[in-house]
Amino acid sequence: MARALAKSTIKRLEKRLVDERDRLTEVIRDIEAEREEVRLSETSSERSPDPNTAEGGSLAFELEKELSVAQNAKDLLEKVVIAMERIEAGTYGSCADCGTVIPVARLDALPYAIRCVDCAASR
Ligand SMILES: [Zn+2]
Repeated sequence: MARALAKSTIKRLEKRLVDERDRLTEVIRDIEAEREEVRLSETSSERSPDPNTAEGGSLAFELEKELSVAQNAKDLLEKVVIAMERIEAGTYGSCADCGTVIPVARLDALPYAIRCVDCAASR
């Protein structure tokens, strides 16, 4: 089995995970606050935006786009949290499926990766 990650490497990646978690939390909070604002203005205005008008259609499109951004951010946040739990548990850096040590280059690119390239590809 390859050598486990150096403590300094884990520290470096952990900092990136913490930054990423904070960034994602903010993105999700912003989008949800904005959606709440839209919801309130919709209920308070005389009529909801009509999706058949250009304005209403693009608003619906914007909301849909933001929903998918929020969903992606949530998915990513979940991965980041799982990776952080693995740091806590001392299992970070080895593949969750086969146990092989994940190359540092992969973790530098994707600090939240918990599987080696082969196992990630076979999912
Ligand atoms: Zn693997």
